[in-house]
Amino acid sequence: MEDNRVTARNVGDVYRHIYRNGTSSRQMIAADLGISLPTVTQNLNYLKDCGLIFNAGEFESTGGRKANMLSIMPDARLAVGMDVTQTHVSVVLTDLKLNILDSAKTHVLFRGADDYYEMLAEHVEMILAKNGVDPERFLGVGISLPAIVNELENTISDSKVIDIPDDFYGQMQKKFPYPVRLFNDANAAGWTELQARGKQQPMVYLSLSNSVGGAVLMNRVYTGRNWRGGEFGHMTIVPDGKACYCGRHGCLNAYCSARVLSDFTDGDIRQFFYEMKTNGNRGYRRVFDEYMQYLARAVNNLRMCFDCDVVLGGMVGACMEEYIGEFRDIVKELAPFESDADYVKICSFRTEPSAVGAALYFVDDFVRQI
Ligand SMILES: [Zn+2]
Repeated sequence: MEDNRVTARNVGDVYRHIYRNGTSSRQMIAADLGISLPTVTQNLNYLKDCGLIFNAGEFESTGGRKANMLSIMPDARLAVGMDVTQTHVSVVLTDLKLNILDSAKTHVLFRGADDYYEMLAEHVEMILAKNGVDPERFLGVGISLPAIVNELENTISDSKVIDIPDDFYGQMQKKFPYPVRLFNDANAAGWTELQARGKQQPMVYLSLSNSVGGAVLMNRVYTGRNWRGGEFGHMTIVPDGKACYCGRHGCLNAYCSARVLSDFTDGDIRQFFYEMKTNGNRGYRRVFDEYMQYLARAVNNLRMCFDCDVVLGGMVGACMEEYIGEFRDIVKELAPFESDADYVKICSFRTEPSAVGAALYFVDDFVRQI
């Protein structure tokens, strides 16, 4: 006999059904989850009493009474994501639907020192205070870093891009009365992109920012045995080629980091693309042509390894929309098995994807545990 009480499992399943479908109805939930309408009703009433869902209108009638449209309450819980880089800090406040409710970006050089950590904590407290966030509804602070991060233990095993002290997590956790988690920046950005695309098909995310990183997404982030999965920046593209910050030569990072382009425009990547397109700077165009040649090799290699969409993200990916056709033509010529390169995509989530991905950990955890 069916258990028609408000059980933890039923409540969670009903909530997740609405969350994943965007909207749902009593009838759809009953049919999809295989539980009776009275049980669904009881669970819905419980979720409404908790302030987690609400009636968002009515579905168009297909004959008979119109069904109530149910939606999750996006701001029932909130999380903060912080992207810490060598030169700046971005803080975002997100709700359960990953809407960015507020954000702030500050240019400040990374320092492994207490006053820097204090400054990070102040940024978070400021955004919480400004938005009147109720501590009862606040899930935690996710921090994304250009480092290899063991996300289970919150330890940093390698941080060649910036010098992050071993006790970074302990120092940051001390600053907050909320849970804190650390994440690799490219993994966080890739996970955000996967959510934004809405389909759970395998995907490779190539993060083309001041350093090149990446993420392999098969439902979740594939981290590998040593949390180094997706470190595409250190694939060798040119034997004995240009020096990379890792100490080796010929890494993809040396050829396709955003700096290869933005060093011409004082670190401003948008300015590079603006000068190239609007002002027709031919020198920049030649630099970009060479950039695409190396990038195409990396993309083709990734396609050969993973046989899935390759998404160009990071600072350069976000600027490449109008060059995608041209870029696909270059990639296509390298492909042994395919006549087009439609699998190469431009990232769809372009606003602070790493910071949002760090906050997403708490959102995902809340939705899975409810
Ligand atoms: Zn390298």
